[in-house]
Amino acid sequence: MNPLYFDHGATTPIRSEVRSAMEIIWNETIGNPGSLHDDGQKAADRVEAARSQAAQALGASPREILFTGGGTESNNLAILGAARHPRNNGRHIVTTAVEHPSVLLACRALEKEGFRVTVLPVDRDGLITPQQVEQALTPDTVLVSVMAANNEVGTIQPIAAIGKILRERNILFHTDAVQAVGKIPFSLKEWGVDLLSIGAHKIDGPKGTGLLYVRKGVRLAPLMHGGGQERGLRPGTLNTVGIVGLGVALTLACQEVNTANERWTRLRNHLWNRIQSEIGGVTLNGHPEQRLPHNLNISFDRVEGQAVMLELNRYGIAISSGSACSAGKHAPSHVLSAMGRPPEEAYQSLRITLGRETRQEDADRLADCLKEVITYLRSLIPGE
Ligand SMILES: *Cc1c(COP(=O)(O)O)cnc(C)c1O
Repeated sequence: MNPLYFDHGATTPIRSEVRSAMEIIWNETIGNPGSLHDDGQKAADRVEAARSQAAQALGASPREILFTGGGTESNNLAILGAARHPRNNGRHIVTTAVEHPSVLLACRALEKEGFRVTVLPVDRDGLITPQQVEQALTPDTVLVSVMAANNEVGTIQPIAAIGKILRERNILFHTDAVQAVGKIPFSLKEWGVDLLSIGAHKIDGPKGTGLLYVRKGVRLAPLMHGGGQERGLRPGTLNTVGIVGLGVALTLACQEVNTANERWTRLRNHLWNRIQSEIGGVTLNGHPEQRLPHNLNISFDRVEGQAVMLELNRYGIAISSGSACSAGKHAPSHVLSAMGRPPEEAYQSLRITLGRETRQEDADRLADCLKEVITYLRSLIPGE
């Protein structure tokens, strides 16, 4: 049996179009994009072409695209950079309890610098309301950071409605769109965001490459100091190969978002229907409708998610128990805890995330194996 991968929320395989584009650069482009000779300018041209591509995919201008080392760096640069810039007034930040650690811990770091942080609670489905954001605002609020869609439970936040409130008050708005891009259609204008984070490896692109959309006129302080690359906001020799890969991955992800969304929704619902009817004793985590199309986060009664993950691994099937970032340490997910789930329930959660290459027969094999694994694990419980 060939192995099956259902952990696209953790990372995705590089798609062939991206690989081909990267290989060309790898083989041909030797120069530093910062060098003025022909070799350097050839690399710089490739970077600028990727910047235009990314800008076009997002409906932005090329000057609004800043290349980074991934989603984590984009989030840190957005939050620390916006808060620390001397001309962005205010020492108060608003975020949510279900953000990725790269947002939550960046905010915690700012607390040590004297900023005040409001962490908004979520409801049982992992959702916040625009009213919650509005009520948290103070004259001292400099930045609001709310993720577009959650990486663990897939819940999609009301970004456009929040953006509208913040636009009226001239407060900076950052969204972590690392999971949302390529999964749900959106427009920067409709969302009303000033800063938006993207990571390439969640959209069939290379690891270690990302971008931050920085709306024209938004001021950031750099995190690092060095050469003047990326308008001084992200110094360091540009990762030409990775950037070219990101440009292609993002373009294709945005072009295909509607058909991919429909296909994943159908496949995910099929899988979920089979699990409910054939296995049972299972609950869905996250919002039932406002959720990412490729995400199925579920808890089986009386069975630990980690045990299911390890058993499926023996069948050559990769899923996630909790998020990859917290899987190493055995602590209940901060997302499920924020959704009001007690630790015992949080430990039962597992996340299945579909990808571009997932077919219906793959989903069916997963359902078959899950049925065997859950039946087996439940048979081990005394008194069952
Ligand atoms: C993966 C992820 C990140 C971190 O991105 P990296 O590129 O892995 O650093 C940030 N936010 C969300 C929502 C993610 O899923």
